[in-house]
Amino acid sequence: DSPTQRVSEAPIEGFEHVTHAVPMLSIDNTYDEHQLREFDARVAKGLGGEKYRYVVDPKVDGVAVSLTYEKGLLKVAATRGDGVIGDDITQNVRTLRSIPLCLTGRDTPRLLEVRGEVVWPTEFFKKHNAKREAEGLETFANPRNATTGTLKQLDPRNVAGRGLTFVAHGYGRVEPLKAATDTELFDQLKRWGIPTSPYRVVVDSIDEIIERLPEWDTRRKKLPYETDGLVLKLDALDQRDALGSTSRYPRWCIAYKFAAEQAESVLRQVDYQVGKLGTITPRAVMDPVQLSGTTVQHASLHNFDQVDRLGVMIGDTVIVEKAGEIIPQIVSVVVEKRPKDAKPIKRPTKCPVCKGEVEKDAGGVYLRCINPSCQAQLKERLIHFVGRNQMDIDGAGQVLVETLVEKGFLHDFADFYHLHKRRDELIALERMGEKSVVNLFEGIERSKQQPLSRLLAALNIRHVGASTAELLAEHFGSMVRLIEATEEELTEVDGVGPELAASIVHFFQSTAGERVVSRLEASGINMTQPKRSRIAAGPLAGKIVVVTGTLSSMGRKE
Ligand code: ZN
Repeated sequence: DSPTQRVSEAPIEGFEHVTHAVPMLSIDNTYDEHQLREFDARVAKGLGGEKYRYVVDPKVDGVAVSLTYEKGLLKVAATRGDGVIGDDITQNVRTLRSIPLCLTGRDTPRLLEVRGEVVWPTEFFKKHNAKREAEGLETFANPRNATTGTLKQLDPRNVAGRGLTFVAHGYGRVEPLKAATDTELFDQLKRWGIPTSPYRVVVDSIDEIIERLPEWDTRRKKLPYETDGLVLKLDALDQRDALGSTSRYPRWCIAYKFAAEQAESVLRQVDYQVGKLGTITPRAVMDPVQLSGTTVQHASLHNFDQVDRLGVMIGDTVIVEKAGEIIPQIVSVVVEKRPKDAKPIKRPTKCPVCKGEVEKDAGGVYLRCINPSCQAQLKERLIHFVGRNQMDIDGAGQVLVETLVEKGFLHDFADFYHLHKRRDELIALERMGEKSVVNLFEGIERSKQQPLSRLLAALNIRHVGASTAELLAEHFGSMVRLIEATEEELTEVDGVGPELAASIVHFFQSTAGERVVSRLEASGINMTQPKRSRIAAGPLAGKIVVVTGTLSSMGRKE
């Protein structure tokens, strides 16, 4: 249970099977008030007039997992599988910081099998997607599927750090079980360090639940993770035993599913967005429509495979849904309403911005503009270059960078360092003025001192994000040494695989890469990584200290 042993070093070959001691049944679903009342009537009848209470909890839309603790230590984590046999995903689950490797407290049971959902909180999911995008990887469509994929990674190092978390919702075997109600058991779980839902409530009647459905539907949209309904369970454990289960579902529990909010609109046209790596993404432009309290006019079509799957045409009436309450997307086409003059959506043969050549991505799903001087890509790349985690140029915001590209001031990264020669022209720009120009110049000047790791992250080398840049800079120490490195030498760096090594070599050998690096160097940009100074003596010498949170004198990043 050592906290330093959370992430194991080696990938596994495959997943062993685990037989669940108590089958993991699924929960029956209801979709309206009438069905809820029917369920309640069955419960009342089954209990023959006894009083009962329900526990109500948001239904977390994640991946069902069972955790087994023996003598307080996490022994096995398994997927639900078919309910009887699941996969052993212990290695991956150990990397989730919210899951205790060791239970806390004096009254921990000999054996505890707790069940719940592994979820990817929206905030971390978005961050991870942004990182993937920056590294030129395909983004995930929704947190649930992405969580399934993450838990099935053979290398636990790919799971650690993604921010997945766990929410308990039930149990299998507990020995000894010292609780008479679900509420008591969950208080115990919480004490033992198992993450439980803070939104659980106990209610006395089905009326109270039905009355509060609209309130819960509104509130769930503000939760940190995705939910798609409510789960109602009898609170008293002996009453659960009395009711038992059918072959498929427990009789003492039911899910109420909220309808995903959908709206109907007409697809008027498809436009294209070009990302900083040239990826061309189709976007639907529709008649404005109300959805989950906002006016929606655009929806993502993700890629052209998705367009084919939907069989959507321009002029079609489409059903739009908010995917995971984040991005609206088209889920289906109302084919009966297709007008005679509906037009197919054509794949662009030229870049919609620069009219340059396009190519199919290696994966065959995305189209990519391969013109290195494409203006759309250029804007995105320059905005990334000046970003806070890269060169951090104060005073160079998105709008300004876009304007400077349009007015011909910027053609590549190095042009920032020649802007001072055009001071008067800059001041003359609309909404600029002397003060903002001075501010911009100061920011540019300061950025020259950024360490090599920042510069590498800023250069937009495929697959090189902030953490890889850091590794490379630490390992090679200077740009000169990095440029000279062969693919083989690059793969010696921890965390650098063959694909990444090839991409780095390709960048530095390309005409554009060579040119921009030499121009940056000529402008006086720092091309080295400062050596971490080591002090030989003192009480902290040789120790690595990890600080979490913020200090009064500095923020998290610093
Ligand atoms: Zn282009």
